[in-house]
Order: sequence, then C-alpha cells, then structure tokens
Amino acid sequence: MPEQQGLTAKDMELVKAFATAFAESTTKDKITPEIIAAIVKESNKPYVDPDFQAREKREREKSRRDFHEAQRVTALQQKNCAHQHKDGQNALNLSHNFPDGQPRGICPLCFLFIQPTHWEYLAPDPVTGAERPQLVPEHPLYHLVRAKEVMS
Ligand SMILES: [Zn+2]
Repeated sequence: MPEQQGLTAKDMELVKAFATAFAESTTKDKITPEIIAAIVKESNKPYVDPDFQAREKREREKSRRDFHEAQRVTALQQKNCAHQHKDGQNALNLSHNFPDGQPRGICPLCFLFIQPTHWEYLAPDPVTGAERPQLVPEHPLYHLVRAKEVMS
C-alpha cells in the first residue's frame, strides 16, 4: 500500500520515527491544553513584514520633517511680509462672521490670520472633565485690522 501512495520504505521509516518521537515528547514534556492554546494563538498572529514597517517609519519621519519645514517657511514668509500691496495700501481682508462680532484679518499675501482677544477652549480636563477656557491675547498686528476696519 505505501508504494501505491508514492512513499518509499525509507519514507515510512522516517514517518514512524517522527511519530514515535512525537508521542514520546508529548508524554515526556506533558503538552497541556494551555500550551497548545498558546501555540495556536502564536500561530494565528498576522505576519509582520519588517521591510514594510521600516518603510512606514521612514515615510512617517519624512512627512514629519516636511511638515515642520513647511511650518518654518510659512512662519518666515509671514515674518517678512509687510501685509501691504505694492502701493502701500493695507492688504488685509476682513472677516466678520465670528460669533463675538469682532473682525479678523487675513493677509492674502502670506495667509497670516490676525485675531483679537478671544476665548479658546482647551481639551476637557482628563481627570474632572471640566471645560478649560483660555483667554488668548490679541495678535500684535491687530492694529492693522482696526485700521482696515476704520477705512472700510
Ligand atoms: Zn502678509
């Protein structure tokens, strides 16, 4: 019969030797259901490709570097912008659609957002869950918004 299945006598000896060794090991090492459960749990874990993880990490770090570089460039542009047109006129656009009724200024040249003194709500306190309002002082250039508001 084994010859019909393609197994040679040598294969059959190996199978018998393996079965004997396995039977001895299970009785000797006492493989418990807990050990089998741990083996099954371990074998069901998804495969994690280390190359994929390394690439993800590199791309995350590059995205973070690019984001910080863009922030730095934007801050530099806003610092060096006069917020004026070439003819010297105040370039700010005003926005009045805020619930406190105070105007905001947006520079179309550098996208600086200039706000008055206003409230901001931080994330709730992690222990008490209480709201944490914070009074934010007005932007140092808010006088430009006031000047534009007077002109318009
Ligand atoms: Zn500007």
